[in-house]
Amino acid sequence: SHIMEHWLEKRAHLSPHDTAIETVTGEVWTFRQLRDAACDLAKRVASIGPKETSHIGILSNNSVDMILHFFACTYLQCPAVFFNTRLSIAELKQQCDIADVEMLLTADQYHTIGKELADEKNLPHYTFREVKQCQPLSISVATDIDLDVVCSMMFTSGTTGIPKAVMHTFNNHWSSAISSALHLGLYSSDKWLACLPLFHIGGLSIVIKSVIYGMPIYLLETFDEKQVHDAIMYQQVTMISVVAVTCQRLLHVLGDQRYPDTFRCMLLGGGPAPKSLLEQAREKEVPIVQTYGMTETCSQIATLSASDALRKLGSAGKALFPASLQIWQDEKQQSTGQIGEIVVRGPMVTKGYYQRPDANQSVFQNGWLYTGDVGYVDDEGFLYVVDRRSDLIISGGENIYPAEVEDVLLQLSAINEAGVVGIKNQTWGEVPIAFVVLSETIDQETILSHCKKNLASFKVPKQIHFVDDLPRNATNKLQRHRLKEWGTKHQA
Ligand code: AMP
Ligand code: MG
Ligand code: MG
Repeated sequence: SHIMEHWLEKRAHLSPHDTAIETVTGEVWTFRQLRDAACDLAKRVASIGPKETSHIGILSNNSVDMILHFFACTYLQCPAVFFNTRLSIAELKQQCDIADVEMLLTADQYHTIGKELADEKNLPHYTFREVKQCQPLSISVATDIDLDVVCSMMFTSGTTGIPKAVMHTFNNHWSSAISSALHLGLYSSDKWLACLPLFHIGGLSIVIKSVIYGMPIYLLETFDEKQVHDAIMYQQVTMISVVAVTCQRLLHVLGDQRYPDTFRCMLLGGGPAPKSLLEQAREKEVPIVQTYGMTETCSQIATLSASDALRKLGSAGKALFPASLQIWQDEKQQSTGQIGEIVVRGPMVTKGYYQRPDANQSVFQNGWLYTGDVGYVDDEGFLYVVDRRSDLIISGGENIYPAEVEDVLLQLSAINEAGVVGIKNQTWGEVPIAFVVLSETIDQETILSHCKKNLASFKVPKQIHFVDDLPRNATNKLQRHRLKEWGTKHQA
């Protein structure tokens, strides 16, 4: 095993009085304060009785409390399982089961949801406020971390529609943070604005970088374009992570103004970036840095350099040091310019999905992760992502797996067959729509209310079309590419 001093211990030792977190309300936390509060919380959480390695679920929007509870989990050596706060109760229940969650910690606003989940699953549930009221146990918390141990879990889905818990070891996070700094550089003036949800890897990775780098973060509860704009303009923010939709809104607010020269990196990932967006950014001299990654790669695995941004517009760059990427098709490695599946390798890549040997076997080969994304590498080695996993819809930076939505539709006995596809949308990039084949009559409203009850709202189909048949091939498999063509006809 590989042992390292706990990052927050080390950081609090090296730069105790440096700023770790600033919030929009002017709250400031130093690394020492963060460490002291997280250790104290760990002892309080311990009194609720998790065992070492118990999986602790966290349901919260971005807040200092959420960060403290995450670090409390690390001090107890318990993996933190992050839930998307927009999920329905049905989805949350399923994910608790899948990840073997043994205890639930929620933001105060999720008191009722937490209680319902906990009752059904017979788990202890505490809101952040309740944790503070617990009597601390006088235990000594971990001062070291084992890099091979799982630090966090986050969900992703796939062709079957059943979520899978991606395991991130401490080494995955460590490698991700170091690789990112080797690429983007690190200045003592850096301050990274965190407005992506911390329950997604793009958000959590900023918190981990903060501690490893000794860099302040400017924390926002959610993305608010006015707040983000002001933070870049007036709060000496130097870096920010965004997705296409949020980037678009920022450029809109920016108008004819220019960001300060000290603002050096707008890291754009999470999905494809429309060329028009990149061109707009170029005109406004916004330092966009395109990146490619996924939950499974613990955020970035390939990134474009600012110096190549204009010359290689649309590229996601090269694999970070020390990651590698290749393009494969029909069990043959593709050469320059040839399109195929993107496969990646590196110390930031997950060791697998929790308790899913089947999925792990199909996704990993000889130490390489098969991403399901399609792309090519140009003659200078730059990656271009040309298409996503055929089943994935990305709406406002959130992933939607059609199979998940189809499963929910098929729960209704009146629906015999269901096919879900993404269509272009001005605001969200894409939104899901459904084609259904009925066995008996049912109205749209009934279908929609069933969906709303069982799915996060961003997954609820925005249109429902009744059809006689779905496009299937000879073996009766749904032909998603043909369904996509159907979808195009219904684009707004
Ligand atoms: P997630 O697991 O939510 O991080 O989603 C990862 C997926 O987003 C990838 O597998 C890709 O399909 C897509 N994605 C991420 N970065 C890019 C990019 N630069 N260009 C196109 N698609 C991307
Ligand atoms: Mg994913
Ligand atoms: Mg995403």
